[in-house]
Amino acid sequence: MAARKAEPTIHEFAFIHVLARRYAHRASGLIQGIGDDAAVVAPSAGTWWHLTTDLLAEGIHFDLESASLESVGYRAAMANLSDSAAMGAVPRFLLTSLAIPKILQRTRMHELYRGLMKACGKYHVTLIGGDTSASKQGLFLSITLIGTTSRKRALFRHGAKVGDGIYVTGTLGDSLAGLQLLSRQSPRTPRLSVTGLTPLARRFLINRHLHPTARVDEGQWLNNGKLATAAIDLSDGLSGDLRHICENSRVGAEIELDKLPISPACRAYAHTVGAQPIQLALTGGEDYELLFTVPANQQKRLERQARARGYYITRIGTVRLRRFGIQMTSDGLTQPMPITSYEHFR
Ligand code: ADP
Ligand code: MG
Repeated sequence: MAARKAEPTIHEFAFIHVLARRYAHRASGLIQGIGDDAAVVAPSAGTWWHLTTDLLAEGIHFDLESASLESVGYRAAMANLSDSAAMGAVPRFLLTSLAIPKILQRTRMHELYRGLMKACGKYHVTLIGGDTSASKQGLFLSITLIGTTSRKRALFRHGAKVGDGIYVTGTLGDSLAGLQLLSRQSPRTPRLSVTGLTPLARRFLINRHLHPTARVDEGQWLNNGKLATAAIDLSDGLSGDLRHICENSRVGAEIELDKLPISPACRAYAHTVGAQPIQLALTGGEDYELLFTVPANQQKRLERQARARGYYITRIGTVRLRRFGIQMTSDGLTQPMPITSYEHFR
């Protein structure tokens, strides 16, 4: 049986029209935004384009029972902004494609766009296109973000050198703790109370999960100031993402567990549920912090500038020879770091 072409309905055109009116403002270099067969952008000479895309599927990446459409949109945009940040790029243009199940009213999609735009808020990212379809099962959302840097200036995963310091921005493990707190209060699971956690700490962790902040400014700073040799954003968890830098750079790494930056709220959460804070910090995904490497002769400058700009960074280890592998040190004991990050299709 031939598949019926999903003809756009009058509602769809109206929906796109509203999107265009609300979010598709003018931008430098933008020749044609929403409303033609393709968006047209005129790249300025001497720039590199950084293109990143993410597909989110209901039931796999988000659950509308525990998360609002607004936070789904917000997190989808943040995931892309974070990839852009890890390249040191300035985020510029956004394309959004949706497959919407019947039970979700199209008008509710504006909640999703509100989240998307809130995430893009201060970066002046312009919505330049996308696609809209019906879905037989579940909501699908695909986001494509285009960012720019000047030519030959980008933070890759492959530049780390033996002897570089390994740094991270922010604190690790908060998002996982927030997710666990949310799932403990989901209507589908029996209510487990986490006593001993202040409402403030609880709100902080849940907010770190639902409303993370991509380190866009920090990424550009590291890139433009030629401070970092390699970078990656922490979307799958430190132990997994560090591995990507090591493989691409053909190096090993030594992580000092006592140095891992862990928020007081995350420590308190771990304590109350009988988990190891270090474990949350090593394996927790979706923190959207940056992991980056810095040559020894740049570290003073890096730390001075970070203080002046109010960026929170922590040195957590050192790049080693490849044959060293990836090891973690604590109390004088060194052992291989287990591979524990979340992977689909496992
Ligand atoms: P086509 O048939 O060429 O795919 P559409 O009718 O799907 O055209 O889209 C018309 C315009 O609206 C295009 O500029 C497209 O990029 C934009 N658009 C469609 N859906 C979305 C969406 N969900 N978000 C943003 N822009 C969209
Ligand atoms: Mg289309």
